Amino acid sequence: MARKKVDLKLPLPNKLAIYIRVSTQQQAKDGISALDQRMRGEKLAHDLGWDYEIYDDSGLSGTKGAEERQGLLRLLNDVEDRKIGGMYSVDIDRWSRDANYEEPQYIITKLKEAGIKIYFPGGEFNLSDPNIELMGRIKGVFASYESLQTKARVKRGLERSMTEGKNAGGGAMVAYGYDRINKVLEINEAEAAVVKKIFELYISGMGSFAISSYLKENGIPTKRNNTKSGQMRIGKKKVVAFKDGVVVEDKQVKQAKDFTWRDSVVMAILKNPIYKGEKRFNDYKIPCPIIIEPRVFDSVQLLFSERKKFKAPPNSTNHDRITKNKFLLKGLLVCGNSKCGKSFYGKLRADLKDKAYVCLSQKYKGEWCGNKGIDIDFLNDLVWKECLNIEKSIIQHFEKFETENSYNGNSSIKENLGKVEYAKEKLNELQKSKVRLLRNFNDEKINESDFNLLNSEYDNEIKLYEYEKLEAEKKLTVYYSKDNLIKSVKEYLKSFNPITATFEEKQNFIRAFVKRVTLARGLFWTNYYNPEAHRIYIEYKFNDLTHLRLSSKIEVGYKPNGHRSGEITHEISLEQQLWLGDGVDEGVRILDNIEHKY
Ligand SMILES: [Zn+2]
Repeated sequence: MARKKVDLKLPLPNKLAIYIRVSTQQQAKDGISALDQRMRGEKLAHDLGWDYEIYDDSGLSGTKGAEERQGLLRLLNDVEDRKIGGMYSVDIDRWSRDANYEEPQYIITKLKEAGIKIYFPGGEFNLSDPNIELMGRIKGVFASYESLQTKARVKRGLERSMTEGKNAGGGAMVAYGYDRINKVLEINEAEAAVVKKIFELYISGMGSFAISSYLKENGIPTKRNNTKSGQMRIGKKKVVAFKDGVVVEDKQVKQAKDFTWRDSVVMAILKNPIYKGEKRFNDYKIPCPIIIEPRVFDSVQLLFSERKKFKAPPNSTNHDRITKNKFLLKGLLVCGNSKCGKSFYGKLRADLKDKAYVCLSQKYKGEWCGNKGIDIDFLNDLVWKECLNIEKSIIQHFEKFETENSYNGNSSIKENLGKVEYAKEKLNELQKSKVRLLRNFNDEKINESDFNLLNSEYDNEIKLYEYEKLEAEKKLTVYYSKDNLIKSVKEYLKSFNPITATFEEKQNFIRAFVKRVTLARGLFWTNYYNPEAHRIYIEYKFNDLTHLRLSSKIEVGYKPNGHRSGEITHEISLEQQLWLGDGVDEGVRILDNIEHKY
């Protein structure tokens, strides 16, 4: 009787799965067509010298789970059966419209486990890169993966324009960043660089007014003052002729150079979806070359609403606006007394003798939460200095993390790196043992029940070491985040000169940096003799970029006479508990929030 051959993990075949999907009606209308996706996949397979197979879900709605999508389901089965070695898809959005990225995360995990290579138009997506989850999170702003994708999308957009043509539409004025060549919109590289700069400056905390000043100061021409001759429509009706850079036929006779950068122009650029590849024409979205990666564009739209909360309400008087803006930390301060949680606001007496940030509960009779105010200049200065020193503090923090034997109950970096290495070695040995065992069985040196017993023992050991490796790698994510965190901080600090900064620049800088400052006043007993203190907790925004929760905690003591006795404690902490637990949902958490919270 022929012996049953036992399935062992064999090398993956050189076969590419090409996954095709048009995930929304909108994409079906203006996205990359199914045929186009197929052709790109086939070209990749050809370049790799691989076979390929098409998994086609085009035309199916993307809101349902994998079980509703036959192509994806078949693909996942083939992954399990080790029938494919790579997968090509136009981008991760094709896999699912799951807003929480739960499903793509599940699929990534499957592919990763199977050792399948993933290809996007920007190239291979390296699943073994320990920064991958982190990069998923930072996608919106800094990651290099994005720039690859942008390049690919821009190229794709250009190609499409060239073949389909006529995406430029009518109108005399082409959007800043583009040229119209034979009725096709093409990227004007010099202007596109300015558009990118505008988005970058806005993300780094500058407002539209500051950006327009920056552009003026750097002598960057607008589209209009770059136009030397020809006709141009201004507003809706008036037709103005240009000749040698001078406007004629206009009563006011403006010079071309008068069309300068204004904050409204900057704002219009920041809001124009053309830069993410969607030219709006009536109700239609016409695809055009992308200058700003859609996720970056969308994050900026979210930033508008976030920054709005710092603006004075629309019905306030001019006087209010001016007064309110004097408070550097306006909109950031929260009362930390238990059961309060109201905002702190700046309170000034006309004679300036009493100037304090106080809890909003003080405004209403009988509602005071008991939290005392804190001197405005003192707190401004404290938060400001914290922001300027943050890079140094982070580096110190990591030094501590790297050298100490245990940190917040987690083992040290060195220890975890050792664990990963050890597990890898063990896994390697176990795979070899399995091959040996299989050979012995197929050579009839051992019987089936012995084989099964040993084989399942090996499998259990493999599971164990894979688990240990994964756990250690998870803990190392903090360490791997270090460079990205420092890079983000540098990005913020780069565009900023603390010495010459105006009040507005300082305020924007702090707002770009700080998420919230919580103040609690009470008896904290850090100083036994003078236990009364303000506990000031500064939370930074880097969690959205690096999924580390960075915060500073400072305690400021008070003497019995109410005078400040100075700083008592000062700690910087990077919280890892949020995503270092044992929860199975961790992977989800790492990828969620990519574009929903900024
Ligand atoms: Zn309060």
